[in-house]
Amino acid sequence: MTEPVFRYHPDPVATGSAVRTDHVCGVCGYQRHVRYEGPVYGKQPGGLCLLCIHSGQAAATLGTAALEAGMNAQFSDAVDVPDDVPFDVVEEVTQRTPGFHGWQQPSWLYHCGDGAAFLGPAGYSELEAHADALDMVREKCRQLGWSPQDTDVLLHQLDRAGEPTAYLFQCLHCGAYLASWDIG
Ligand SMILES: [Zn+2]
Ligand SMILES: [Zn+2]
Repeated sequence: MTEPVFRYHPDPVATGSAVRTDHVCGVCGYQRHVRYEGPVYGKQPGGLCLLCIHSGQAAATLGTAALEAGMNAQFSDAVDVPDDVPFDVVEEVTQRTPGFHGWQQPSWLYHCGDGAAFLGPAGYSELEAHADALDMVREKCRQLGWSPQDTDVLLHQLDRAGEPTAYLFQCLHCGAYLASWDIG
C-alpha cells in the first residue's frame, strides 16, 4: 500500500513523527507498515497508520466528548492562527496531518494564508542556514522581553534531540523558512 502524501508534513518518517514498522492499525484494523508516533489529542489508538490520519477516519473515530472542535481528535494544536487562513486549512492541519512531539504542546506555523510544511525538529546547526527562521526565533524572544545577548545564548543552545528544540517549517507559497521553539 502506498503511503499517503501530506501537504503540510511531507516526510513524517524523516521528522520522527512516524516509523517504518509492521503493526496493526487500531483504527482501520489493517496490517500496516508505517506507524504514527506523534501525539494524538483524543483516544489513544495503540497503533495508528498514516492512511487513517490522511482520510480523516482517525480524527473522526478517536474523538471524545471532552474535546472541542466538533469532538474530532487532533494531531496538533491550533494556536495563533492568522486571520487569513481558511478554516478548512486549519482543519486539515490539525485533524488530517501527522503532528509532532515537542517539550510543550507545539502548534503549527502558518504563512501566506496557508499552513506551512513541517520539516522537523531542528537545532542551531539546522537553523543556521535559514536567516529568516533565526529571525523569527529572535523576534519571539524580543516579544518575551529577552535581551539580544540572552537570545543569542538560546539560539546556540537549540538542539534537535535535546532541549530547547526548534521546529522548522517552510512556507508552501513564498518559500520562507519559519521556526518556533520550546523547552521542557
Ligand atoms: Zn489505519
Ligand atoms: Zn509565505
